[in-house]
Amino acid sequence: MAGANSFLLKQTQLPTRGRALVASQSLEAGQVLLQEAPLLAYLDAHTASANTVCFHCTRPDLNPNPNGNGSWSFCTTCQVAAFCSPQCAAAASTSTHTPFVCRALSLLVLCTLDFDSQTQARYLIAAYNLAVVSPHCFEQLLSLEGEGSVNDKIHLVHTFLSEAIRSWQLECQELPSWSVEFVASLIAKDQRNGFGLSTFVPDTRLRKIRAYAIYAQASFFNHDCLPNACRFDYIDKPGVGNTDIIIRCLHDIAEGVEVCISYFPVNWRFAERQGKLREEYGFECRCDRCKIEEGWSDEENGEKGDEISVDGEASEEEDEAMKNTDEEEGMDGEGDGQGSFPHAMFFMRYLCPRESCGGTLAPLPPHGVSSSVMECNVCGELRSEEDFLQEIQEHKVSP
Ligand SMILES: [Zn+2]
Ligand SMILES: [Zn+2]
Ligand SMILES: [Zn+2]
Ligand SMILES: [Zn+2]
Repeated sequence: MAGANSFLLKQTQLPTRGRALVASQSLEAGQVLLQEAPLLAYLDAHTASANTVCFHCTRPDLNPNPNGNGSWSFCTTCQVAAFCSPQCAAAASTSTHTPFVCRALSLLVLCTLDFDSQTQARYLIAAYNLAVVSPHCFEQLLSLEGEGSVNDKIHLVHTFLSEAIRSWQLECQELPSWSVEFVASLIAKDQRNGFGLSTFVPDTRLRKIRAYAIYAQASFFNHDCLPNACRFDYIDKPGVGNTDIIIRCLHDIAEGVEVCISYFPVNWRFAERQGKLREEYGFECRCDRCKIEEGWSDEENGEKGDEISVDGEASEEEDEAMKNTDEEEGMDGEGDGQGSFPHAMFFMRYLCPRESCGGTLAPLPPHGVSSSVMECNVCGELRSEEDFLQEIQEHKVSP
């Protein structure tokens, strides 16, 4: 595997799992396994419509002001793309917001696509642009897994993209058109490999998707419902690289063991997880947790799986964000918490205790010694070992 930490992981074929990444040496809790910039990123149409996010770097306008504020500006041609700084506007003009993108965006605001299709259209605009400005990255995108079939919605976005290309062809050189089948396969690649970049909104305690990004290397991680690694992003941090993905170990991992992440919040219940994996990733999960939970009755799946959260309360959240699942029995229950719900300890240790967050906790990167401070990959909250032991006390579950 390429990338800064290529020596930590190696790609291999596992008999039951197909292509997989395994630890090529023993890995430490909190260790950074991968940090990678996206092949492409694009804004969610809802977020984009509020005009408070930079088209280039996806950082929010923290101080929206109808009279414009400081360094923020709109593209004067399409009047759709907002930029947080002259630097972003300048960088975008040769990368994310080329004249083709500008033209396509100005057509997008005039069309009648719904928000979902507008988000797909934004992805296709970014992908088409990538093919022109960075053919090598586009090849990488094409090499990712995902084969789609054509349906009515795909016809709609394909028609939009074709018009955008035609419109630009009138002014520019001959550009290739894309078939509807090709567009369907690109959309499938996004569904299978895209990561949501979201903001945790403390007021509502919900996660709000701001943008989506596709990463060449990160898409090689397989899924497990009890993962041993998870991803972080720091999209509001200053400086370059704010849309990088970072994959860290949850705990020590022995050499030769497969490294997996969860493709969605770990507190989703069985039926929800299986549905998502079947529909968007085309497989049935046979991980240790699923093997146990498939034996549960619907009722048990409701009770145990429905709302796992360390503290309770579930709440509806957006798209990739989470439904919490309560695990009263395992938490408050008998003795070691390993009775009817053997994974209770996993949720105690790695599920964010903050109500309705649903994020996964991983130790901070080790500096010489492993860190005992856990960081939530959604809300950013830190939890010390002492806080954790206190929580266990309260739940009367022995570690
Ligand atoms: Zn910016
Ligand atoms: Zn523009
Ligand atoms: Zn599973
Ligand atoms: Zn959290």
